[in-house]
Formats: sequence, structure tokens, C-alpha cells
Amino acid sequence: MLFTYSRLDGKKRRRIVGQHAQKFDYVITGAGSAGATMASRLTENPDVTVCLLEAGPKDNRTSIHTPAMIADALFSDDLNWHYDTAPQVELNNRELYWPRGKTLGGSSSVNAMIYIRGGQVDYEAWEKLGATGFGWNEVLPYFRKSEDQQRIDDQLHGHNGPLTVSDLRYINPLSETLVRAGIERGHPQNDDFNGASRMGVGAYQVTQRDGRRCSAAVAYLGKEVQARPNLTIMVETLATKVIMDGTRAAGVRVRTKGVDSDVMAKREVIVTGGAVNSPQILMLSGIGPADHLRDMGISVAIDRPGVGGNLQDHLDTAVCFTENTGASYAYSLRALPKQLTEAVRYLFTRQGMLTSNAAEVGGFASTKGEDEPDIQLHFIPAIIGDRDAPRNKVHGMTLHSYVLYPDSRGTIRLASTNPEDHPVIDPQYLTKGHDMQTQIAGAKMAMDIMQSPVFNEVRMDHYSPESYPQSDAEWKAFVREKAETLFHPIGTCKMGAPDDEMAVVDPHCRVYGAEGLRVVDASVMPRLVGGNTNAPTIMIAEKIAEIMKAGG
Ligand SMILES: Cc1cc2nc3c(=O)[nH]c(=O)nc-3n(C[C@H](O)[C@H](O)[C@H](O)COP(=O)(O)OP(=O)(O)OC[C@H]3O[C@@H](n4cnc5c(N)ncnc54)[C@H](O)[C@@H]3O)c2cc1C
Repeated sequence: MLFTYSRLDGKKRRRIVGQHAQKFDYVITGAGSAGATMASRLTENPDVTVCLLEAGPKDNRTSIHTPAMIADALFSDDLNWHYDTAPQVELNNRELYWPRGKTLGGSSSVNAMIYIRGGQVDYEAWEKLGATGFGWNEVLPYFRKSEDQQRIDDQLHGHNGPLTVSDLRYINPLSETLVRAGIERGHPQNDDFNGASRMGVGAYQVTQRDGRRCSAAVAYLGKEVQARPNLTIMVETLATKVIMDGTRAAGVRVRTKGVDSDVMAKREVIVTGGAVNSPQILMLSGIGPADHLRDMGISVAIDRPGVGGNLQDHLDTAVCFTENTGASYAYSLRALPKQLTEAVRYLFTRQGMLTSNAAEVGGFASTKGEDEPDIQLHFIPAIIGDRDAPRNKVHGMTLHSYVLYPDSRGTIRLASTNPEDHPVIDPQYLTKGHDMQTQIAGAKMAMDIMQSPVFNEVRMDHYSPESYPQSDAEWKAFVREKAETLFHPIGTCKMGAPDDEMAVVDPHCRVYGAEGLRVVDASVMPRLVGGNTNAPTIMIAEKIAEIMKAGG
């Protein structure tokens, strides 16, 4: 078999020919938040060669880099994987749309750019779950190492890292109103959700540089990094399985434009496909729950029952109102003149409305009156459309709330042995513990904030729900009918102690039972952090890259 592929810079074309497949020290499968970080850090050593595989195209689309075009990236045909979940029993058997980034930068190229690390307590919980070395004091240096903080100057933040974190350049007047409403309802103002406490309401900081998205690809795979002779990036190349030599990972089978070939690893294969794809690749390679693999007709290389288990996600309930100021983001004739002016403004100054990430403000709160939050809020001065009609014409505003630490656990399972088929994603939302109660309590809190008299001058009418729910039964019906993902799946190759049979990787992200194989991405988190998941994923990659460089 013979095929050619081009390096990302387009300068060199190399050939991979049958048995003479190229060898690299490390082969990394997926150029997302973690994969981009790993490739960049490992190739800082000029003696190490890395091949970074990415199923999606280059990240050269305007919709990726212009923050306000987030909806386009989110629903784009070729920049994301367009997953759907299995029918969710507790959500009226609905199948939820799960976008995941499929381009350089992965989900960090389509996400809402909110920069949140989670609470210190989250990392203490990880340690207790067997993620030794991931306590707060041990992870803080890696958050700082990655960070290029533009405003806050204290010991919790870093200033010399590649990931630019800045205040938003534009905040919609309705978002400012939300913060005032939150304060009126008794929530403290918080100017740094990554500071001493997450509690309160305020503006989010975002991963943006000069008014443009700072994805993991922008941060870690800039021109200088791409020019490194020891880094080869192959885009539009699907890793179809890890080639196992017994229990040793020897390389990766790849598919480019329908043609299969092998890329071999002298040292290690590092799986970085994210919480959906990493367990899928492992299972296609014979690593996973033996029964399931046998059912699928796959011969078992390593029986790890935890692969694809422990799936956790943030489920979101949104209350929406129409509004009468016209300041909200909508595709209306009324808004057109302002939008055209703002487009020109952005083109010349990188300022203004087009720098908005939509979810500009929000906060953290406890529905039980405790010191640590159990819900997070995201306010959007818009009514977000769905996959079929992403461009909403109605002027309105939405307050999202989601349960930070759900008890429910789901699974990723193979639907077939075809690597191009989507796996079965079954988060089993709201099936355990107090998830439904907390979801309802969060939605009520969101409604309470939206009922603040501060909103009297702008609020027009209930949009969703169509009227104020009168009982918990009505709230429950609303949640069942309307709740959606907040896009934070994790945990499907969880990190844990050697005696935890459901653990997939050890605290150095090495796959138990395998040699030369790691998984490094959001899938290794043992438990959701109380916040958004991009910064923690990058932190994990920073930490593991340093461990590997030190020979661990
Ligand atoms: C719509 C959306 C909004 C979000 N908003 C925020 C936010 O505001 N703040 C925040 O902190 N987090 C947010 N997140 C979550 C955050 O972006 C993710 O948790 C994080 O990017 C996960 O990183 P990862 O490396 O695990 O996976 P990803 O970044 O998804 O990377 C996986 C990469 O691997 C590639 N890949 C997968 N399988 C293969 C294969 N077989 N062969 C080759 N390549 C493969 C994928 O194409 C992708 O590029 C959001 C996510 C989404 C989808």
C-alpha cells in the first residue's frame, strides 16, 4: 500500500510505503486541547520526534477565530463530530446533540472560551480517588505554566505561558444587568473565578488573545512550533486503532482519504482523542471490557473493564426570556445595522461585539447554602437556536444552570468495529442520587435571578418555560423536556490507583497492563471539576509532558 500525506506547512511531502512506515518517538492521536499541548511540549526537545495525527482539517476558518461566530463553529459540518447521545430515559428519551471539535485545537477551537480551573477541593477529591500527585498544590504550577494572564497579578496566576487568558473586550449591556441582578439576589460579585473562591457572579475571563480565540492550537501549535523539524502534523487523518504487539503499543493505523497505513512509535503512542474518542480507539485496539470486545468480535489484548465507563457530563437547564431593548444577539432586521458596523469595527480594531463569546457572565452558587458551589451559571444575551435553526431571530436572553458534581455515570460503547462509525454515547443523565433535585434547584435559582426587579425594564416575557412553573412536578417536566449538554464529558479512561479495577490509567497516564501507551486528555479525569473543562485538560497535558520529559 502506498500513499502520500502532506505536512501541515505544505512544504514537504513524504511517503509512507507498506512495511516501511515512518517511525517517530511518539505518535499522538488527536490535536485537541491535550494533544496540541503534548506535541508542543515534547518537541521542545529537538532530539525527540513526534507525529501528531488529527482527524479534522486545519484550523484556518474565520468562524474558529472570531469569538462571536461560535455558533457557526458549533454547528459546522466538518469542524465537529456531530455526535448524538443514546435516548436518555430521564429526558423523555431524547437524543442530545453533542458537538466535539474536529480540527486543530479540537474542542478548544469550537468552545465558549470560558477560562475556569475548578475549585481547589476538586483536585483534593481527585487525589482521594487515586490520582496521586493531582492535589491542588501539585496542579497549580501547571495551570500557571500554561497561562498568559492579562489582568490579574498574583500567585495563583501565570504570565509566561502560551494560553492567553484575558477579560472580554466587550460585554453586552444585558450581561451587565445580569450581574447586577445576581448581586440584588444576594450573590457576591466575583472578579476572578480562578481566585480564592468561585462563589458569586461576574464576568468570565476567556481564552482570547487580541480579541481572537486562543485555542490550544493557537497557544501551543503556533508558526514557530509547526516549523520544528522534529514535529510532523498530519491533518484529515483518522487514527483507526493502536497497533498492539502483545501488550505493547507499537504504532497507530491511520486512514487518510480512505487509504490505510501505519505510523510506528519507537517509544510511545499517546491517545488524545477526548472523552468520546479515546475509549473508542482503545476498544477498537482490543483494550477494554473483555465481554464487550468479544461481543463486538474484537480479540482482547488487555481486559480493562473501566474503558468507556465512568462517563460524566454537565447537564444544563436554561430559562429564556424575550427582551425589548434589542441589545441581545439575534439575526433580526432591527439588529442588522449594528451588526454590520460591529463587523467593520472588528475587522479594523479587533474590538467590539464580535469579540464576545456569547456566554460573557455567570457565576457559581450553592443551592444548599454552603460555602462551596454545587451549580454554575452561564448567561447569554441571546436565545440560542438548535442544530436545525442555529440562527435565532427572536431577541432574548438565557440563563443556564448546571449541576457541577452529578452522581450519574454513563458509558461509551462501540456500535460497530468500523472506526468511522460513531460510538454509542449513553451519559445516563439524572439517573442517580440527587441529580434531578439539584438540577431543579439550579433552574429555580436561575429563574429567581431573572425575576430580579433589576430586569424589569428589559424583560418582556417568558420564552422557555412558557410560564413560571408552579410546582416541582412542573419543573421536573421542564427539565425532562429541555435539558441539554453543557459539553463537558470526561472520565471514560479514568485515572486511578493500581488496585482500582475500573481505573484505566495510572497517575502518569500510562494504560494499566500496557507498555508504551498513555491516554492524556479529559477522559482521564476521575471526576468532573466544578467548572469548565478546557483549562484542567491542558493542565493535565502540561503535567504529563513534564513527567515524560523527566523520564517518567
Ligand atoms: C461546544 C463546546 C463548548 C465548550 N465550552 C467550554 C468553555 O467555554 N470552557 C471550557 O473550559 N471548556 C469548554 N468546553 C470543553 C472543553 O473544550 C473540552 O473539555 C476540552 O477541549 C477537551 O479536550 P480534549 O483534549 O480532551 O479533547 P478535544 O479537545 O476534543 O480533542 C480531541 C481531538 O482529537 C481528535 N480526534 C479524535 N479521535 C481521533 C482519531 N481517531 N484520529 C485522529 N484524531 C482524532 C479530534 O478531532 C480532536 O481534535 C466546551 C466544549 C464544547 C464542545
